[in-house]
Amino acid sequence: MVAATFDSLSSFFDSTTWLVARNLGIFFLALFWLSIAWWVVRDARRRIEDPLLVAVAGLLGLVLPYVGVLVYLLFRPAELIDDVRERELEIRSMEERLGGRLLHCLKCRAKVDSSFLVCPVCTTRLKRGCRGCNAPLEPLWQVCPFCETPVDATVAPLRQRRGANE
Ligand SMILES: [Zn+2]
Ligand SMILES: [Zn+2]
Repeated sequence: MVAATFDSLSSFFDSTTWLVARNLGIFFLALFWLSIAWWVVRDARRRIEDPLLVAVAGLLGLVLPYVGVLVYLLFRPAELIDDVRERELEIRSMEERLGGRLLHCLKCRAKVDSSFLVCPVCTTRLKRGCRGCNAPLEPLWQVCPFCETPVDATVAPLRQRRGANE
C-alpha cells in the first residue's frame, strides 16, 4: 500500500504535468520577485531624492529576493517627497502671513510681494526704487541698504503731490 502510494507519487513527479507545474511555479516566483524589486524602485523614488540611495534600495530588492523588500520597508522614509514639499510650502506661507510679508495692493487688493515697486495688476506705485540700484525701499529708510545711496528726500513729496493732483 505504502509502496504503491510511493510509486504513484514518484510517477507523478516524473510526469510532464509536474514539470510544467514546477516550471510555472518557478516562473511566477521569479516574476513576483522582479515585481517586488520594481515596486521597491518606484516606491523609493517617491520617498528618496538621492538617486544613488534609490539604486541601493532597488538592488536590495533584486539581490535579496523577498527579504530585501522587508529590509527596505523597515528603513524607508515614512513621508513621500511630495508631502514633505507641500508641508514646507505650507509652513513658509504661514510664516509669511505671520511675518506680514504677504502684502496686498491697497487699491485692488491683489497679492503683491514686498519687493514689488508697482502693483502688477493695477500699476499703483507701492514703493520707491533706489536711485542707485533700483532696489525697493521701505518708507523709513534714509539710505539704500544694498548700494549705500542716500534716499532722496525730495522724491516722496513729489510723489505725494502727483498723487494729490490725480
Ligand atoms: Zn493693485
Ligand atoms: Zn540702492
